[in-house]
Amino acid sequence: MSAKVIQDYDVVVVGGGNAGLVAALSAAETPGTKIAVLEAAPKEERGGNSRFAGAIFRVVHNGSSDIFPLVHETMAKDKDRVTIGPYTREMYARDMLKTSKGYCDKEKMEVMFDHSLEVVQWMHSKGVKWQLTLSKFYDETKIHGDGEKINMHAGGCLMAKHEGVGLTDDIWAAVEEKSDSITPFYGHPVVDLLATGDTVHGVRVRLRDTFLDFKGQVILACGGFEASPRLRRQFLGEGWDLVIVRGTRFNTGRMMEKAIAAGAGDTGHFGGCHATPQDIQAPKVGDLRVTDKMSRYSYPYSVMVNLDGHRFMDEGENQFGLTYAKTGGAIGRQPGATAYQIFDQKTLHLLEPRYSTATPIIADTMEELADKIGVAKMEFLNTIRTFNDATQPGEFNPFKLDGLNTGDKLAMPKSNWAIPLDKAPFVAYGVTCGITFTYAGLKTDDEARVLNNEGLVMSNLYAVGEISGGFFAFNYPGGAGLTKGAVFGKIAGKAAAEAAKSDQTVVIRNN
Ligand SMILES: Cc1cc2nc3c(=O)[nH]c(=O)nc-3n(C[C@H](O)[C@H](O)[C@H](O)COP(=O)(O)OP(=O)(O)OC[C@H]3O[C@@H](n4cnc5c(N)ncnc54)[C@H](O)[C@@H]3O)c2cc1C
Repeated sequence: MSAKVIQDYDVVVVGGGNAGLVAALSAAETPGTKIAVLEAAPKEERGGNSRFAGAIFRVVHNGSSDIFPLVHETMAKDKDRVTIGPYTREMYARDMLKTSKGYCDKEKMEVMFDHSLEVVQWMHSKGVKWQLTLSKFYDETKIHGDGEKINMHAGGCLMAKHEGVGLTDDIWAAVEEKSDSITPFYGHPVVDLLATGDTVHGVRVRLRDTFLDFKGQVILACGGFEASPRLRRQFLGEGWDLVIVRGTRFNTGRMMEKAIAAGAGDTGHFGGCHATPQDIQAPKVGDLRVTDKMSRYSYPYSVMVNLDGHRFMDEGENQFGLTYAKTGGAIGRQPGATAYQIFDQKTLHLLEPRYSTATPIIADTMEELADKIGVAKMEFLNTIRTFNDATQPGEFNPFKLDGLNTGDKLAMPKSNWAIPLDKAPFVAYGVTCGITFTYAGLKTDDEARVLNNEGLVMSNLYAVGEISGGFFAFNYPGGAGLTKGAVFGKIAGKAAAEAAKSDQTVVIRNN
């Protein structure tokens, strides 16, 4: 069946998540630009992974003087409760380099630092509302006294109001306000690129009984390949085909594969992904009724054991925001892809409020707890005993790396927050691995242009958000994904609109 050309656009954005919508809004700033946003999901499921997100944006900033003006008026009281220090580009670079073991794309990382604050300010000007991350990771009422100032973690202090749902509602609203220039098409899965050699002319959409061709500068913003069991098995390895998918079911990596088949270069940590501890009862694929409420990130204050009763990772290696993205994978490698986070009464008040969606298993003794959770009992009791024996005196401080560690007594140390589990009742939470997004994808330059296999720019093709690879590897500093998508989405939207208006654009019409 031959494709029917319905219309020419200046810019065709594939995917309506954070990166794609920012790209569309940015393109719309060039007067007269006609933009199509092609979204595979129906309208009710629009927003991609961005809608499921906690929507923390990690940006370079100078502290409260930069952050406070962004906080929405309805959350203004929060400002009186906190102090926020600067998060410098050196701090951001340290966190990116450490989490990626040096494998992150350093040039693009610098571009992200340059534009990170500016992009959230720009999104603010487009109607995105912001708040502080207060009450997201701790129930402050259980921790801080009335009037006590809370010293917020500078890297993770800012998020969209009402998290990913609020973020995507706000940017979709901004897009809908630009109906003179931006046209969204829901239920329009893009299945191929239209190209002649390295020159891209548009994309092909598959509908029920026909294909539709959309011509224009193409911005691919259709996420990673995390929702494809086939590609997960192929690239991430055994067992990954069966893990929980935390976000949208539509990010299947098809356009990454098609672009590569058309000559685009690929890059990044194909064997790595962002995956986190999820409640053992979490839905198999992201459910918009719970979004990210099934995440379980209070493990630094726990002892985590597998079904064999053994510890398998350093729960206190660093703040959770710098370890959670690799902790899912560590759990996924355990028998039955299952682990239990064990707390005692000394740390229960530190649990994230979202643990309220879990069913805790509670016991007065460790023996009883072992029976209830079904781990190998003797090994479990031995693990807890040797862990408790390895703990050392010192001051426990949950809000900084307190250095309370197990010394060299354990093969698997705990580097911070190592205090004995000795205050009953004991409480266990079952967790498994949930994939968030993949790290590898298309090769792009600093201007988000896709490079071909030989490293040359492919005409009229951009890739932004998680479909562009090489930015993260092994692990990830929380909040960098959305910032990366927004920064490069804005760059790509502007560049694509300008290219469409310039004489140099290569768009073959009416073939
Ligand atoms: C539960 C959860 C919590 C998270 N929390 C945070 C956080 O707090 N901070 C942070 O920085 N990151 C967070 N992330 C990661 C973050 O959501 C992603 O980095 C970000 O959403 C990626 O944006 P994107 O625009 O690239 O992709 P998406 O937002 O996933 O958008 C991709 C869009 O493309 C569409 N699509 C896919 N294939 C096609 C096709 N062939 N044709 C047409 N459309 C297609 C999809 O339907 C989707 O709408 C979280 C993710 C999850 C799942």
